Amino acid sequence: MDRAIPRRDFLNGAAMTIGAAMLPAAVQASDLKTDELQNHAGYNPPTSNGLRGSHPGSFEIAHSLRDGTFWQNAAVPERLAGKYDLVVVGGGISGLAAAHFYRERVGAGAKILILENHDDFGGHAKRNEFHLGGKLQLLNGGTMLIDSPTAYSTESAGLLKKLGVDAVTLDKQCTVHGFYKSLGLGPGVFFDRETFGEDRLVAGFEPEGLETPSHAASAGKLKAFLEKTPLNEKVRQDILRIEQANIDYLPGLGSAEKKDRLSRISYKDFLLNIAKVDPGVVAFYQTRTNGEWGVGIDAEPALDCWALGLPGFQGMQLEPGSAPHMSYSAAGYATGGSDRFHFPDGNASIARLLVRDLIPPAVSGHSVEDIVTAAVHYDRLDAEGSPIRIRLNSTVVRARNVGEPSNSREAEVTYATGKQVYTVHAGACVLACWNMTIPYLCPELPEKQKEALHYLVKVPLVYTSVGLRNWTAFQKLGVANVHAPGAYWNSVSLNWPVNIGEYRSPRSPEEPMLLFLSRTPCKPGLPAREQHKAGRMELLATPFKLFERKIRDQLARTLAAGGFDPARDIEAITVNRWPHGYGYEYNPLFDPEWPEGQAPHVIGRKRFGRIAIANSDSGATAYTDVAIDQAYRAVGELIA
Ligand SMILES: Cc1cc2nc3c(=O)[nH]c(=O)nc-3n(C[C@H](O)[C@H](O)[C@H](O)COP(=O)(O)OP(=O)(O)OC[C@H]3O[C@@H](n4cnc5c(N)ncnc54)[C@H](O)[C@@H]3O)c2cc1C
Repeated sequence: MDRAIPRRDFLNGAAMTIGAAMLPAAVQASDLKTDELQNHAGYNPPTSNGLRGSHPGSFEIAHSLRDGTFWQNAAVPERLAGKYDLVVVGGGISGLAAAHFYRERVGAGAKILILENHDDFGGHAKRNEFHLGGKLQLLNGGTMLIDSPTAYSTESAGLLKKLGVDAVTLDKQCTVHGFYKSLGLGPGVFFDRETFGEDRLVAGFEPEGLETPSHAASAGKLKAFLEKTPLNEKVRQDILRIEQANIDYLPGLGSAEKKDRLSRISYKDFLLNIAKVDPGVVAFYQTRTNGEWGVGIDAEPALDCWALGLPGFQGMQLEPGSAPHMSYSAAGYATGGSDRFHFPDGNASIARLLVRDLIPPAVSGHSVEDIVTAAVHYDRLDAEGSPIRIRLNSTVVRARNVGEPSNSREAEVTYATGKQVYTVHAGACVLACWNMTIPYLCPELPEKQKEALHYLVKVPLVYTSVGLRNWTAFQKLGVANVHAPGAYWNSVSLNWPVNIGEYRSPRSPEEPMLLFLSRTPCKPGLPAREQHKAGRMELLATPFKLFERKIRDQLARTLAAGGFDPARDIEAITVNRWPHGYGYEYNPLFDPEWPEGQAPHVIGRKRFGRIAIANSDSGATAYTDVAIDQAYRAVGELIA
């Protein structure tokens, strides 16, 4: 476990030379126009390994602002000459979409500055770029795919169309459906000794539900799977029962009454107290909701789990469709969903398409097919004379109206980069950043609005990309993706097989491959928002070395029988740490039902003079379509 990973160290070393130069503390620039870090030769953040996501250097200024120490140590802001029509805070999909919509409304000459605290644009929609065996391989560092519980709105669908994105056609033409199955690889479960008494990988579990809607496990297949697991006989029988039997666990009630009851208890309570399963069953299902909501089944309503496709409800005659007291996602899933498509780098391709639309010289190419391999010229993102500019490594520390908010005609935005602090002026400002930062940027906001903005706690997540020398161990073991209900990483999957433009995903198990690992840190037993806060603290305190050890340990234990050796087979690791991940979605178990217009995200997003608020937080959920819709609304408020 302690042997060095020579190729990995080399890759890290190469990328980190640039990484170190990127830390804001290292900024020596006296004149931003010529010496921004993003203008340096070789600047290409997606190729960096190590800790990405909220990477070191991206959040320290914001945290010192929160802790009240920023202004004690800050330089006097220097006012930059000129005036923009719009300053956008946050270079995620919402911020980029806000710039697009503003220019569309105001005209091609609109002068827009986008300020982003990370070293790259895209917000959560980031890309991890590897060159393994001399070949480009990509994974999403955050926002994974075009996929929402509800169909995209006219505005969000319209924007994708303008960018050339047709999810249905792309999916048909580029996703190699059934590829792993054709090699005999399928889903498996890793039972870890800490939770289940012994380490054992069992192939052949195809859970029903959202992820694999067409693979309802046959009774024989499930039984055969369960017999190979370390679960005891009673637990196996109960899993078979809830997965297969058509039992009405709430006889005598109508569909609406059942739904009401199921919306008020957790899925864990449903299993234990209504379906009356052995407590050992809970460990098997505990983390099946983590990827969707960031918490386990102890904190998710049973009714939401019905909508997600978890078992136990098939005999309960619940009417299709959503019901009162469901979360946003569950209500959507119960009635439909959007089209789906995964670009090899996730929705980072949408961010790149948006940047090409806003600043054409900055991103090469001209089609949706070539965006994946297009070069980004970071030194053209903030070019003198360009009407739209994106300035990276720049944390906004203040946004205020010039004069009284009620009749202000101008906003003043202050940002810090390293030790330097600058002020820019604009006709308007869109805060497309995270809700909980806004009260620190705008202390003048009404107290009720600040309180509302603080209410939403983002969901922490880690998406990790691991470069492998080859994937023969997966082939030998017959697995393409492994759910690990009790382990550190909830899931381990071979990369999506997608070919687009000149990009080709690996075909042979002898070829290098990227693995996708995910973890959603939480503290079962606490209310959802408390679990998210605890998970965030955990993430911020976890060094790369520990993530790396957990990767090596879990992969070795899962894949040992396939001949996997972490020191030999791992070539590179990128840990995308998102302490502030998904936008918070109200959880019917813990959040009240607010009267119309009184929910915290509605109060929180109210326009404040020349400052409007976008970002998916202001839609109280975590989807790309919502990030775009909120940008459209915010721009509309400023222009009205
Ligand atoms: C791991 C992960 C996976 C996801 N997967 C999906 C998916 O598959 N499909 C989907 O639809 N959605 C997914 N999402 C949700 C995702 O958040 C949205 O789809 C969308 O990308 C959000 O865009 P946004 O611009 O609203 O927010 P963000 O992407 O968070 O962008 C906001 C930006 O503002 C910056 N910022 C904050 N404060 C400041 C400041 N003071 N100064 C300057 N900049 C600041 C932030 O650093 C950030 O870059 C995922 C989210 C995560 C974390």
